[in-house]
Amino acid sequence: MAKLILNNVSKDFGTGQPAVSRVSLDVREGGFLALLGPSGCGKTTVLRMIAGFEAPSDGAIFLGERLLADPAQSLPPERRNMAMVFQSYALWPHMSVADNVGYPLKVRGVSKEVYRRRIVEALDTVRLADLADRRPADLSGGQRQRVALARCLVTQPDVVLLDEPLANLDRHLRQEMEETFREFHIRSGATMIYVTHDQSEAMALATDIAVMSRGELLQVAPPQEIYACPEGRLVGSLIGRGAILSLAVPAAMLRKLDWGAIRALLGAAAPDGGVLADVLVRPEDVRLGGEGAAARVRSSLYEGERYSVTLDLADGQILRAFSRERPMPGDTMSVTITSAWRL
Ligand code: ADP
Ligand code: MG
Repeated sequence: MAKLILNNVSKDFGTGQPAVSRVSLDVREGGFLALLGPSGCGKTTVLRMIAGFEAPSDGAIFLGERLLADPAQSLPPERRNMAMVFQSYALWPHMSVADNVGYPLKVRGVSKEVYRRRIVEALDTVRLADLADRRPADLSGGQRQRVALARCLVTQPDVVLLDEPLANLDRHLRQEMEETFREFHIRSGATMIYVTHDQSEAMALATDIAVMSRGELLQVAPPQEIYACPEGRLVGSLIGRGAILSLAVPAAMLRKLDWGAIRALLGAAAPDGGVLADVLVRPEDVRLGGEGAAARVRSSLYEGERYSVTLDLADGQILRAFSRERPMPGDTMSVTITSAWRL
């Protein structure tokens, strides 16, 4: 195994707008990278170029020292030692679980001994050893997906590519499968690239998140860092909840702002010829009550464990907060912003 490197990779289908623009990525061996972004932003195209189903129009893809593809040459998918798991994970209905899992080995013509051993190992990894003789029809949805995962493991791929594998499942099964994927990653040790448009899925699963928009890569970082320190307005609004305030922040000020800084900025007018900065305020960093700035409750939505509150500040900007008690629309309260992040 080795790390996967994308070096300024672009894909232009000749439609006027490139599907992928100058994407550079460095996925460490054994890493779990989520490729996150809205529908149509180029995630599947990136995955298909890594797998070898599509050649880059520009840039290069490497696995360690080995060149997989550039505009002049592209190694065919079967020679890349990768496995791709699709949303529909078609299993053969007439074959047992074990034979479904072993199918890619049969195609490659391995010895009987290797065939049996690899199936046992793969089923073990996804905790399905007891169900080896069943037919797919006798399994639950989650178990079938685990069979599909085991099937991609038997060839011992360097990289496992997953394209929105949970997109069509109901919420309950999604949660079960998120656990399965996390465990699968740890037990298999495989490098995984997981495409999703669901940020909570990306947060829960991945060791790193790559945020994409309109074919471009905006930021790559661990989930906690993407959440706390998003780069730019787009990432700030795509990831997590919060409000973006427009404040006259002096350029020399730290990007992480405390209440002392924010209080001074809240009432301040834009400096002469100066610029307003986008400042992200997460709802959990807004305290209601006590001594702070005045705000008026616009709405409060009940979410079970708390209320999600939208507030209007005196200058007309909007703030979001959480509250244990129900704030009534129209009420005036004071707010303190304990921490904020300049985008
Ligand atoms: P995502 O997976 O993020 O939803 P895709 O990678 O499927 O996005 O698509 C990115 C863009 O490239 C879209 O605008 C899509 O219409 C376009 N695209 C994808 N595949 C092709 C193709 N084979 N020919 C032309 N355009 C394509
Ligand atoms: Mg897609």
